[in-house]
Amino acid sequence: MRLDKLLELEKIGSKRKVKALIRSKQVTVDGMVIMSENQNVDPAVQDIYVEGKKIQRHSHVYYMLNKPQGVVTAVKDAQHQTVIDLISLDDQRAGLYPVGRLDRDTEGFLLITDNGQLGYQLLLPHKKVSKRYEVVVNERLTTLDSQAFAEGIVFADGKKCKPAKLQILSSEKNESHAHLDITEGKFHQVKKMFLSVGKKVIYLKRLSMGPIQLDPALGLGEYRSLNQEELQALR
Ligand code: URA
Repeated sequence: MRLDKLLELEKIGSKRKVKALIRSKQVTVDGMVIMSENQNVDPAVQDIYVEGKKIQRHSHVYYMLNKPQGVVTAVKDAQHQTVIDLISLDDQRAGLYPVGRLDRDTEGFLLITDNGQLGYQLLLPHKKVSKRYEVVVNERLTTLDSQAFAEGIVFADGKKCKPAKLQILSSEKNESHAHLDITEGKFHQVKKMFLSVGKKVIYLKRLSMGPIQLDPALGLGEYRSLNQEELQALR
């Protein structure tokens, strides 16, 4: 990472202040005075001092976001607001990215981190990280649907889904509510699973991912750092 970027992220000061500190020989890396702000440094293995004070090793950040509809799960997008745009500039770090993907019209839990390794681990299919969704469909749901989900839905193209748990919360002719637990992350998986039993998803929200549940205190578009317990549970 660039030295000036690191010092900004570690809240040493504004871009201007950081530059001035470097130019006035106040920054050392492994004992050497550094006068170039675009020098690449690795805070995990190098000793970096600013005005005689050691910069602590850059630790990762982990945010839980309650994603609203209309926002795309991407780092950058030419047309739409992204989930990273919802993170305040003060909290943004280089390498921040969403773990997994929610459709533009899906709400709910999204993990955002700069720890690429952890994100990669959580998405590995054999880890079978479970995800719970709140779903509203435009038809009556029956125990036959729950059975089909438990046996493993087969998509029109022949792809078979792993068994999933469908818990019907209410069932009416034109609108049913349910919780669905799945352990995979196929493209548009939940919508396609319901389409396979002839139902259209009209509202979708992710409630949890692995051991972490969406904090009900978070309004749409709000986020917070994971707490110690949640971080422990992820490891
Ligand atoms: N399944 C879907 O169909 N959409 C999502 O956003 C997440 C899971």
